[in-house]
Amino acid sequence: MTEPLQIHQPRSGSEGHSDIFDCVQCGYCSAYCKVSFISEDSPRKVIRFLQQDDIDKAVKSSFVTLCKQCQTCTWMCPQGIDVAGIMRHLVRHHFINY
Ligand code: SF4
Ligand code: SF4
Repeated sequence: MTEPLQIHQPRSGSEGHSDIFDCVQCGYCSAYCKVSFISEDSPRKVIRFLQQDDIDKAVKSSFVTLCKQCQTCTWMCPQGIDVAGIMRHLVRHHFINY
């Protein structure tokens, strides 16, 4: 049985958050992510899949298993989104369910 994936969490305090609907698709996270240059996907694209409620596409993206958890995307996001935390959540979901 597939474990439900809870990604959309509203802001709370000044810590990085995982409100994917705050993402404006600026692409800063992807521009600074070294892994996005060797994958057809990127953090920006994966977040877009989530905004479109295409959880399957996000979880199955080869990109999430390539993520090195360097945190650069989280540091660079002007919207304060914990992009690396979202990738960590997705990769866990990927290995549990696929
Ligand atoms: S944490 Fe992952 S997605 Fe973010 S910049 Fe690093 S490798 Fe890329
Ligand atoms: S840097 Fe932040 S706002 Fe820009 S595309 Fe990435 S997650 Fe979205």
